[in-house]
Amino acid sequence: MADSTELQARKTICAGGEWREAVSGATREILDPADALPFALVAEGDEKDTDLAVAAARQAFDHGDWPRTPVTERAALLRRVAALLVRDREELGLLESRDAGKTVEEGRVDIDCVADAFRYFADLVAGEAPGRVVDAGSPDIHSVVVHEPVGVCALITPWNYPLLQASWKIAPALAAGNTFVVKPSEITPLTTIALIGLLTEAGLPAGVANIVTGPGHTVGARLAEHPDVDLVSFTGGLASGTKVARAAAPSVKKVALELGGKNPNVVFADACATEDGFDTAVDQALNAAFVHSGQVCSAGARLIVEESVRDRFVTELARRAGRIRLGRGTEDGVECGPLVSAQQRAKVEAYVESALAEGAVLRSGGKRPDASPQRPENGYFYEPTVLDHCHREMRVVREEVFGPVLTVETFRTEDEAVALANDTEYGLAGAVWTTDAGRARRVAGRLRHGTVWINDFHPYLPQAEWGGFGKSGVGRELGPAGLAEYRETKHVYQNLAPKPVRWFAG
Ligand code: NAD
Repeated sequence: MADSTELQARKTICAGGEWREAVSGATREILDPADALPFALVAEGDEKDTDLAVAAARQAFDHGDWPRTPVTERAALLRRVAALLVRDREELGLLESRDAGKTVEEGRVDIDCVADAFRYFADLVAGEAPGRVVDAGSPDIHSVVVHEPVGVCALITPWNYPLLQASWKIAPALAAGNTFVVKPSEITPLTTIALIGLLTEAGLPAGVANIVTGPGHTVGARLAEHPDVDLVSFTGGLASGTKVARAAAPSVKKVALELGGKNPNVVFADACATEDGFDTAVDQALNAAFVHSGQVCSAGARLIVEESVRDRFVTELARRAGRIRLGRGTEDGVECGPLVSAQQRAKVEAYVESALAEGAVLRSGGKRPDASPQRPENGYFYEPTVLDHCHREMRVVREEVFGPVLTVETFRTEDEAVALANDTEYGLAGAVWTTDAGRARRVAGRLRHGTVWINDFHPYLPQAEWGGFGKSGVGRELGPAGLAEYRETKHVYQNLAPKPVRWFAG
């Protein structure tokens, strides 16, 4: 358990530059998922705290300098934030590891990616032309299209990549000149709280960045419906995302949703024709499904493998899944941490149970591991699980499990492979493994997913848009479109030689 100073840190709500406790005085213990013990205490905000934070963001947008700050200064500030993240990489990586239950190395990589996002959006805005001149067909008309900040942004984030998901919203929101209120997941708020401190240290004026720690049904719901919020950008599950869209509708605010996925990993037999090819495809299938215990929106949770190689592939996959070293993310040699909460583990267990009842064949995992020095008894651990002989009628194939559960389906033809891969209401990401370049391009072209990997799984680039088809969401993060979400577009049409139009005779 952490020392008592950490447990006293309850002023975690920041509105208008002032760090406060919740108006109600309520607090929440933050648990380490590796042992279920509290290691920090945060303010449990509600609607009243949310209203104060929105008012501060509104004031800073309507009367502050930030929206009108020259773009080069905004970009310079974002770069200073990136430098501070590099300075604090170890501390923040460790905090992310304890809070979200990932390995420390994953935590550090997350922080590197957060810094990349700040640098990317700094470069993007700094390199842009200030507007687009439009040819109006007359020398007397000057017509230009410009971009302006949307206003007050509500940014709601999940627990699996707490700071990374926050940075994909905060960096472009600031680059575009907005003010914001961020609401991190109530179970993993610590690194986002730290980031608000770094923004202040980098010189961001008070009131531009505000944070309210607290639950989704109070803080999140109030942000989504608040009449003074101009945009809500949400990352999380389908059920909450639908509620956010509904709550935002009456005030017609802009809505961006990054929701779940049920992502196919399609393996053709030719990818396994050589020993190296086989080893790579199996290794990457493991990585696709089990990194961060499968609590990844783009997890390759559906293996769709050509029938002729299925037995060999699944046997090797299950053998290697069984060797993944589970434990507390801060311990040396650990490859996978616990699930984030008791609730999340119970959900995973229910999915595995229902799959087995529906006829799936368990090839590895399917239970909690034994306790060990690296795996405290009370931690929320669950073994990497491979379920063979799955089919589309099973809940475990259709719904997002968000845990270390890989289902196996097979195909015989390219058409069948594509049909299976697209047979989901989601459409976030998918991969195809083949040595046939023509087939790779054909299949990639037919997949209805926002990101398609060919002979790879998981990499993303800040320069390339991220988001989903279907029920995986609305809008895009990262890339130029990820900045455009945070902007209004304005057409300024100037007549340099005005004269009457005489539309009306009188
Ligand atoms: P969640 O939907 O339970 O919560 C996400 C956030 O929304 C939290 O901050 C929560 O407090 C808040 N929230 C909950 N109910 C709300 C409501 N009614 N109104 C407003 N806010 C509300 O999701 P989670 O369990 O934290 O995260 C896991 C989900 O996030 C998975 O479905 C995963 O696929 C998705 N995710 C998607 C992406 C992506 O890029 N598409 C990235 C990461 C996670």
